[in-house]
Amino acid sequence: MRKSKQRDLILEIINNSYDHPNAYMIYQKSKEEIPNISLGTVYRNLNNLVDSLKIKRIKMPDNIDRYDKIDDFHAHFICLKCKKILDLKIPNNNHENLDGNKVLDYEISFQGICKKCLSDKGGI
Ligand SMILES: [Zn+2]
Ligand SMILES: [Zn+2]
Repeated sequence: MRKSKQRDLILEIINNSYDHPNAYMIYQKSKEEIPNISLGTVYRNLNNLVDSLKIKRIKMPDNIDRYDKIDDFHAHFICLKCKKILDLKIPNNNHENLDGNKVLDYEISFQGICKKCLSDKGGI
């Protein structure tokens, strides 16, 4: 098995997902294509893809990192109740240049209770 095949598959899974999957979810998905892939391999490739700025890692309050594609610049709202990650548009559209500095990566995440949880009975 070529190493790059596993890496390409993992990148493709992330680029095609909208739910900010964690490593285990990515592992389950990659097993459909490569049944003998190991969770360790998935972690290694995820680290590699984060280091080479192909994907983003989202730090979560429960320490189970989630992953996101790099398509457009957006911030995240993490719901502490349902653990959903919502994408937020950032009003300023010049994120690549900050005071003359070229931005390659950034992380903005807000934490709280999402709209849906707030409107559900028993919301905080
Ligand atoms: Zn919620
Ligand atoms: Zn996102």
